[in-house]
Amino acid sequence: MIATIIGVGLIGGSLSLTLKQAGIFSRVIGVDMSNTSLQKAQALNLIDEALPLEQAIKKSNIIIISVPVDASVDIVSKVLNQINEKQVVFDVGSTKYPLCNFIKNHPMRKRFVATHPMWGTEHSGPEAAIITAFKGRACVICDDDLSDANAVETVENMYRKIGMHIIKMTAINHDVHAAYVSHVSHISSFALANTVLEKEKEEETIFEMAAGGFESTVRLAKSNANMWVPIFTQNKENVLDVLNEHISQLRKFKAALEKDNTDYLRELIVKANTIKRILK
Ligand code: NAP
Repeated sequence: MIATIIGVGLIGGSLSLTLKQAGIFSRVIGVDMSNTSLQKAQALNLIDEALPLEQAIKKSNIIIISVPVDASVDIVSKVLNQINEKQVVFDVGSTKYPLCNFIKNHPMRKRFVATHPMWGTEHSGPEAAIITAFKGRACVICDDDLSDANAVETVENMYRKIGMHIIKMTAINHDVHAAYVSHVSHISSFALANTVLEKEKEEETIFEMAAGGFESTVRLAKSNANMWVPIFTQNKENVLDVLNEHISQLRKFKAALEKDNTDYLRELIVKANTIKRILK
């Protein structure tokens, strides 16, 4: 299968590497707004050639949209306007409803499959792509009833071949769940990094003392603003809802400490420990 990957960064590049290794993609064409990224992607063997969008689509069986979620909305119609009934298009964006809603009346909607592979790191760009990505993780496919069965089957098989299992839900439900499990953890990590940067002026002390909990909790704060600002704004209502709950949880810890209420402090921590049941 010949693939075009629009956005040759962490996710697009990792999909290219893993799907080529699995023998699914025989050739990968890269499309990106940055020539530097395309050159790096070619040097790293993420792509075989770089072409303008229109030429790349003509040569491909499958087209993957792997750009920040605001750019996906701009690009998706350009792609769907140019494909034929045999080609398949899918995206990997971290929000699903805005894109799905945007193309709901497009005549080629059925050739599009909405996906979100639940794997990532805090790094971005072609250099961040790795061949060991995705294995053992879930991939969410949304609103599959709106896509042609053979398009869904092609995309599902592809993800299964690289070791992912498939979860299906509506785009609306995906965005609610993603706000809980992913989006708020990023806000929390960005805020924690800012808290420490504001309070602790001795960078050497942060570096020396951060090896334990701080480093792992704040890892996500290294994530790219170009990717996360559009995710938060597209999923604003869900993120605000879960952020309100998070702030109220922080207030409980603050109140317990202010009142020297160690029983309540213990109760809050013991309740939080029950997450071990779900995440071992
Ligand atoms: P990334 O490493 O920053 O890669 C995105 C690439 O797209 C960059 O090379 C960027 O170029 C390029 N790009 C941006 N706007 C473009 C446009 N209009 N046309 C063509 N290329 C464009 O980001 P990523 O982590 O791979 O994220 C890609 C998608 O995967 C996003 O939709 C994200 O929500 C989703 N996702 C991310 C994760 C994660 O943890 N990172 C996990 C699952 C899904 P420049 O570098 O020049 O800006």
